[in-house]
Amino acid sequence: MREQNIHISLRLYQEEELNTDDLELLEAARQATYRSYTPYSHFSVGAAARLANGTIVTGSNQENAAYPSGLCAERTALFYANAQYPDQAIDTLAIAARNERGDFLSAPIPPCGACRQVMLETEQRFQRPMRILLFGTKGIYEVKDAGSLLPLSFDASAMK
Ligand SMILES: [Zn+2]
Repeated sequence: MREQNIHISLRLYQEEELNTDDLELLEAARQATYRSYTPYSHFSVGAAARLANGTIVTGSNQENAAYPSGLCAERTALFYANAQYPDQAIDTLAIAARNERGDFLSAPIPPCGACRQVMLETEQRFQRPMRILLFGTKGIYEVKDAGSLLPLSFDASAMK
């Protein structure tokens, strides 16, 4: 038996430490939370993707009475981006969320496993790292690529 460790590295920023591009993207993610449709969870998530050409595409979580039919903000944004701009890599994806009281979360919002899987394939599809910014009022995590959020990931190479 041999124990192995997998490390991920991330950076914790305060908002005032971010550059104007990242501030703009975070604000787009925060604004997107107000366009969510969350009659069941009352948990509003927004995602904003900056494409390689500079375009910002946003998404928010969209729920449905048949719960599994809904979709997370991250995948809404990524699928929309890929549907509208299939030749554009995602440079950075920012995510923000508000709780049922309407307050932005204090801790950086972590994407769910399904979204991490889609983020990974989006990154691999364009063979370019996709930076991720996870917003919290007490700090913002910057992750250098989607692969870092999904150690021991399953991807197409596993099927060969
Ligand atoms: Zn998700």
